[in-house]
Amino acid sequence: MTSGHDDRPLSAATTDAEGGIDALRREVREVYRELEEALSVLAPRCSLSGRCCRFKEYDHTLFLSGPEAAILLADAPPPIRPLDDGETCPWQDLQGRCQAREARPLGCRVYFCDPAYEVHAPELSERFLARLREIADRRNIPWNYRPLHHHLGGSTPEPG
Ligand code: SF4
Repeated sequence: MTSGHDDRPLSAATTDAEGGIDALRREVREVYRELEEALSVLAPRCSLSGRCCRFKEYDHTLFLSGPEAAILLADAPPPIRPLDDGETCPWQDLQGRCQAREARPLGCRVYFCDPAYEVHAPELSERFLARLREIADRRNIPWNYRPLHHHLGGSTPEPG
């Protein structure tokens, strides 16, 4: 049972799970792939504003689950900036681009500032989060749906 709180460190919970991080990666990436497929039908426009990663400036918070955090930390390169207090993402470079693109979580993938797309985001988010939740529950990994900075606190590698 994984809902609610689970005090195991994420890394231990992940590697304890059947197949470890590799099996988890395959399943989470399949969810991301299917999300990309759904997005390709809607074709939201990305103007590369970098807004999605400047949380405080644009008044939003990036939430992600335990499985997504495990994949982000395992697969993303070292962050390029030190962790702040939640204002920005440490993987956004000075040009506003994501340096953790392959490993970025669902919340980054469903966010577009295209007004014509906005109405679709909640449904997509809910649908694919439910898939991730099912993976977490089946693999006995803590769900821990929390803001990015709560996951990263004290656990990010030094900026490269
Ligand atoms: S992981 Fe990438 S897309 Fe997501 S907030 Fe950070 S820089 Fe932006």
